[in-house]
Amino acid sequence: MAKLSDAHIHVGQFNDIYTSPQEVVAFMQQAGVEKYAVMSTTIWEEDYKKVLNEMRELVTLVPQSVLPILWLTPQMLLKGKLDMMLESGIKWYALKVHGNHPWSLNGVNECATIAEELSLPLIIHTGDFPHCEAGVYKEIVKSHPNVSFVLAHCRPVDQAIEVIKECPNCWGDTAYTPFPEVAKLIETGLEDRILFGTDYPLQKIHAPEKDLLTDYRETIFHVRDVMSCEQWEKVSHTNFEKLYNLFD
Ligand SMILES: [Zn+2]
Repeated sequence: MAKLSDAHIHVGQFNDIYTSPQEVVAFMQQAGVEKYAVMSTTIWEEDYKKVLNEMRELVTLVPQSVLPILWLTPQMLLKGKLDMMLESGIKWYALKVHGNHPWSLNGVNECATIAEELSLPLIIHTGDFPHCEAGVYKEIVKSHPNVSFVLAHCRPVDQAIEVIKECPNCWGDTAYTPFPEVAKLIETGLEDRILFGTDYPLQKIHAPEKDLLTDYRETIFHVRDVMSCEQWEKVSHTNFEKLYNLFD
């Protein structure tokens, strides 16, 4: 089977739906995904111990497949809980921030500095609201040339294209990016810095009537459909391996 990495999936509590580590692993195996970057939505409850337990379980179940991502929140930093997360024994592959947390731009900038100190990429959620559109983060991306940034969702796409084009340290993922917009990213020549991602299992909330696996397979099909085989090779796994230094 062709290699496939998913740069953007979730485990944990989201609203009233819980997706357990075992469920994530079983699903990814069924879907044929070799490696996946996982962020726990349990972080919305600020329950750091629960997040750590989920990550520990994932890594124990499939150590070769899971890349744990440390989702930072303003409260985590305020309460001085970052050290607990960093000293948990979990190997974090990247940091993440989400604009729905009450971050100031200075706060996000501080996270970029933490990412630089830890030599980790920083994934930034983009879209849904003007205060967290891709373009908002351009200056932060520019002022941390040693940090790799991932604009999750690439929203809005024109702003994402502008930032990725201008900043060689910036990448984007395709989680919930409409397929014509994925096509636009590729047509603009950004195939070396676009990562396949899905936001699994949030389809449970956004499209509850659909079968999750069918939906996942359709997403693969449609993203792949807007690019050449060589481009898909990069988007589906080699870019991911490059970003996270997974080459042997
Ligand atoms: Zn997500």
